[in-house]
Amino acid sequence: MSERKQIYLCLAHMSEDGAEQRYVKEAFDSNWVVPMGPNVNAFENDLKAFVNHGDNEVLQKEVVALSAGTAAVHLALLACGVGPGDEVIVQSFTFCASSHPITYLGATPVFVDSEPDTWNIDPELMETAIRDRIAKTGRKPKAIVPVALYGMPYQIDRIMEIANRYEIPVVEDAAEGFGSRFNGQVLGTFGKYGVLSFNGNKMITTSGGGALICENQDDANKVMWYATQARDAYPYYEHTAVGYNYRMSNICAGIGRGQMTVLNDHLAHHKHVQKLYEELLADVKGVTMHKQPADPRYDANFWLCAATLDPDVRIQGQENAYKEVIKSAVGGAAGVIRAVESATTSCQPNENVEALRVFMLDKKVECRPVWKPMHKQPVYKNAPAYVNGVSEALFKVGFCLPAGPYVTDDDVRYIVDCIKEAIV
Ligand SMILES: *Cc1c(COP(=O)(O)O)cnc(C)c1O
Repeated sequence: MSERKQIYLCLAHMSEDGAEQRYVKEAFDSNWVVPMGPNVNAFENDLKAFVNHGDNEVLQKEVVALSAGTAAVHLALLACGVGPGDEVIVQSFTFCASSHPITYLGATPVFVDSEPDTWNIDPELMETAIRDRIAKTGRKPKAIVPVALYGMPYQIDRIMEIANRYEIPVVEDAAEGFGSRFNGQVLGTFGKYGVLSFNGNKMITTSGGGALICENQDDANKVMWYATQARDAYPYYEHTAVGYNYRMSNICAGIGRGQMTVLNDHLAHHKHVQKLYEELLADVKGVTMHKQPADPRYDANFWLCAATLDPDVRIQGQENAYKEVIKSAVGGAAGVIRAVESATTSCQPNENVEALRVFMLDKKVECRPVWKPMHKQPVYKNAPAYVNGVSEALFKVGFCLPAGPYVTDDDVRYIVDCIKEAIV
């Protein structure tokens, strides 16, 4: 039997015809090796064409390419006027890049829990939070940040209705939801700003990068200005505000241009893999795929395929779960993770979920816990939170399965077989 290759959660995947390398070579040949240039402009135009093209109507949004999705969140909040002492409502069930920029600006995140259908921000609880913050502080939150977790569209119609009623701008964090649609309209185009990420593991990659979708040219210009150190138009450098060095490099944009040629293939493949998991796991007792609502307006990209494991399912090796302190990073981009003293925290996935992760790793399949809610993170222990228990409960039972262009039908069948084998 041949050696099985490791199956990763979601790997960067280049076009077959090397378009990325051609655009990057163009940048070198023309010496545009700087954070602006023809690839950046062309990539922005490609992105604009994609996000503006709804099933029912064509929009007129602008797009600014940036060095990271995190930078896009940061500049969107800045452009909404968020500053020291302000509060921003943000979905708790998310990756830290949704909320950290609120802290960068000296503002306070107000975390709101999820509803069980999409796993995204609960609109009703969001309104409760808005009212309660106004009652407690006498001021409205400065922005609302819903997150398309694993690409699943949030209940954007209800979110926008409430946000509009209170006149609070919405910054859509569609970093994981590039290409997802609601009612035919691309996520990121509903709110005042929309965040995209092109990190190495997202729907498409520029190695690292992001973009901000803006409502109009004025907003886009403001964001562009902040992204390039906020320089005023004098022959010398004149600054009337503090800016950032957040513009996308022309090299990265070259990769992005190439990736735009495979975006639709990637979207189709992610959806196909999800469908296959749903079929093959349908009769596995105790394992439930996270599906999109039956409402036909939902069209998720299924960036990652998520599932839950019932607490009463026993997994091989469960008795050893959390017995050892982890010595290497679990998932995520390579980087420094700090060694820890203890193998456990006060809020962690159930033992059977951890045992499944270890079992699958041994089978060369990368599975990962779902995001730990921000309101349960030690770093945010003092932030206000409006909680209904949904995200914490999902964190204990949820896990992510490999998706993306490198995952074949055979891989999915193998992964499902491994899950079945893991169950005692
Ligand atoms: C990836 C991601 C971002 C942005 O991340 P970058 O790595 O900075 O591009 C923002 N929010 C969420 C929810 C994400 O998953």
